[in-house]
Amino acid sequence: MAEETIFSKIIRREIPADILYQDDLVTAFRDINARAPTHILIIPNHLIPTTNDVKASDEKALGRMVTVAAKLAEEAGIAEDGYRIIMNCNKHGGQEVYHIHMHLLGGCSLGPMLS
Ligand code: 5GP
Repeated sequence: MAEETIFSKIIRREIPADILYQDDLVTAFRDINARAPTHILIIPNHLIPTTNDVKASDEKALGRMVTVAAKLAEEAGIAEDGYRIIMNCNKHGGQEVYHIHMHLLGGCSLGPMLS
């Protein structure tokens, strides 16, 4: 059984977070340490520790994460200029919180990712 992280407490609203969207499958909130003018995290409501743990039964939640990211990008006014979506996995990917999350970053030019 995977261990809960601080993100489970955010989903249950047990600790404060700037929640922008929540439904039966996903929750989206502002990253506490924004690395861009818009930096939002979109997470499944059920715990999946890493992208290695994603199962076919998670596909609905993962699809919802993408549609919610696009909706929030539109609302933030960054859709037309563009943005970046990142999911980090494990140590080499730089993952710090072991509850999968999509970073939605935008509001400025992010430059080439691999340079
Ligand atoms: P990772 O490196 O795992 O892909 O990213 C984890 C992200 O979660 C980081 O960008 C970090 O700033 C954010 N984060 C960690 N703890 C909290 C928290 O308690 N609240 C919020 N809003 N973001 C958090």
